[in-house]
Amino acid sequence: MTPTKKFFKKNRTLILLVAILVLLLAIFIPVELKDKRVDNSKTDSDKKSNSLPPVIVSDTRNKVDVPILMYHHIRIYNNSEDKIGTNLSVSPENFKSQIDYLKSNGYTTISFSDLLNYPSKKLPDKPVIITFDDGYNDAYTNAFSLLKQNGQIGVFYVISGFLGRPDFMTASQVKELSDNNMEIGSHTVDHPSLITLSPTKLSSELIESKNSLEAIISKPVTSFCYPSGKNNTTVDDAVKTAGYLSATTTYSAISNTSEDKYILPRLRINSADSLKSFIDKILNK
Ligand SMILES: [Zn+2]
Repeated sequence: MTPTKKFFKKNRTLILLVAILVLLLAIFIPVELKDKRVDNSKTDSDKKSNSLPPVIVSDTRNKVDVPILMYHHIRIYNNSEDKIGTNLSVSPENFKSQIDYLKSNGYTTISFSDLLNYPSKKLPDKPVIITFDDGYNDAYTNAFSLLKQNGQIGVFYVISGFLGRPDFMTASQVKELSDNNMEIGSHTVDHPSLITLSPTKLSSELIESKNSLEAIISKPVTSFCYPSGKNNTTVDDAVKTAGYLSATTTYSAISNTSEDKYILPRLRINSADSLKSFIDKILNK
């Protein structure tokens, strides 16, 4: 028997085991790699077909909290037959104490452009966004001058088809707000529930309001607010397609720089809020 044959005879079991191991590796390593490729392509096709909720990949390492406050009326109003209107009315006195609190506690009001420009552009310490829904005349009369005096910014979501109606701002007031550094956003033409509209009507509500507000202020209108907070993925996509860069909802939470910019949550401030409950809301207590 030659030395080679002797070696094989002596180590037969070991050689057999090594051969089986090599065979197993040859089978399983390609399967594992293939599985990974399948996973990736599945994610891509899901994104395209929209059959699953989109996976939001955002960098949360430098996440900054940005409370977005939601106001409607700034007025003294208490009508037992109009509970909703009463609830949505913050008195000018309470509004002033809330605004003064923000100012004296180091908060800086920012616009949605500031939020979207992060992290390319830094945000101030303790950023906050103040929004007013519907374009009520009392928001112009009772909020604008206070914000202006304090060097603060507010975002006014205007229903373009309601301009000039009783209780609503006029086009020239909207222009004055914009000329004084306030942001003007769209809140549709007629304030319908967007989730019930045909695709044609949906896009006209979004595009016509944008165009008419831009004609008034001679600036791009890129911020949107869903009427009554009603949205779904079809509506969100239509808002994006119409050219808006952000949209706010009525979901209640403190927003931050990692949120999906088309479903930004807000904090509702209403008539029942004391200064303490206002502070608790923005501190998430
Ligand atoms: Zn509204």
